[in-house]
Amino acid sequence: MLVRIDRLHLRDFRNIAELELQPGEHVNIIHGDNAQGKTNLIEAVWLLTGAKSFRGGRDADLVRFGAACASVEAAFFRDGREQTADLAFGAGVKKRARLNEIPLPSGAGLAGVFCAVVFSPAHLSLAQDGPSERRRFADGCICQLSPRYIALLSDYSRTLLQRNTLLKDIAYAPSLLDTLDVWDERLAELGALICRNRAEYVARLAALAGEIYAGISAGRERFAARYAPGGAPEGLARGEYRAWLLEALRRARADDLRAGATSVGPHRDDIELSVDGLSLRGFGSQGQQRSAVLALKLAESRLAEQMLGERPVILLDDVMSELDGGRRDYLLNHLDGSQVFITCCDRQSFDSLQGGREFELKAGALC
Ligand code: ATP
Ligand code: MG
Repeated sequence: MLVRIDRLHLRDFRNIAELELQPGEHVNIIHGDNAQGKTNLIEAVWLLTGAKSFRGGRDADLVRFGAACASVEAAFFRDGREQTADLAFGAGVKKRARLNEIPLPSGAGLAGVFCAVVFSPAHLSLAQDGPSERRRFADGCICQLSPRYIALLSDYSRTLLQRNTLLKDIAYAPSLLDTLDVWDERLAELGALICRNRAEYVARLAALAGEIYAGISAGRERFAARYAPGGAPEGLARGEYRAWLLEALRRARADDLRAGATSVGPHRDDIELSVDGLSLRGFGSQGQQRSAVLALKLAESRLAEQMLGERPVILLDDVMSELDGGRRDYLLNHLDGSQVFITCCDRQSFDSLQGGREFELKAGALC
């Protein structure tokens, strides 16, 4: 089934004083000059997923300068019925989130209700930056699919923090060394679960992203993604990985005690991305990096549909720059009938698109 926004209403959100939008069911093009509010609009829709902004920053930054409070409201179709979600932010007040007018404990309560996939130029860091960006990406995707994984991640982080604190404390109280075994066991147990979840997710994502990338590059290039769990041998079952991690923690113990930090475990893992066998980060061109991140994002959307039975809304901010004509055409015509919001400065980028609805933004207002 298709998740779809039928009505969107923003008030005092960034540079948008008030905006009411009735998007179409499929492609919606938001165009306008630089600094008119296109990314702001995409950001507002993204916040309805319950996640934090892909731009970083504080909730208070979302409020239009000079206003007291910002709000984002949407009527959307999901689970075969019309629903509403609304958010309100203000400087110095807690974010308010409601689903079907019922207050939620926090914005995160919207996670898994309204689902969307977002691509913005900030996401190119997935291809260009270090492993933590890729771990965050995989974790974010799995969290949208499984609340149990959210709890698992927070258990792991807490355990890691406690082990690191203990490593530092042992320098002053050597008798605490005996308690380290318990934390190693716990970390290995939770670490093995995280590693299995991520490795399974990445394997499924990689298969779909590989197909999409082949389409984007008209079959000329081959994209691959692989979960790389530290120095562990490939293909370990959960129990084997747990034993490997426990052993690795023990081997690293002397170094960890000196550094006061844990040097092995899923918090150090990576997802290796490559095109034609070459590391995307080290050797990929800008167009290849952009194509790969897009392929991963579109694969994320297809996988969410396979696993949740709902096809997420796709948000594409400034996606067309650096892509050649062939790649643009493929992208525009292979969005699988999802509801898509796509921004651009230059309306001509979309000449090959059949159908779709267009909106022009000027100084935060539709014109
Ligand atoms: P580009 O094509 O350059 O990406 P854009 O249309 O995506 O432009 P946005 O990033 O949406 O532009 O930002 C539009 C403007 O919003 C910026 O000029 C910025 O100064 C302004 N802005 C951001 N936050 C606020 C805020 N809290 N209050 C008022 N204006 C804001
Ligand atoms: Mg922008």
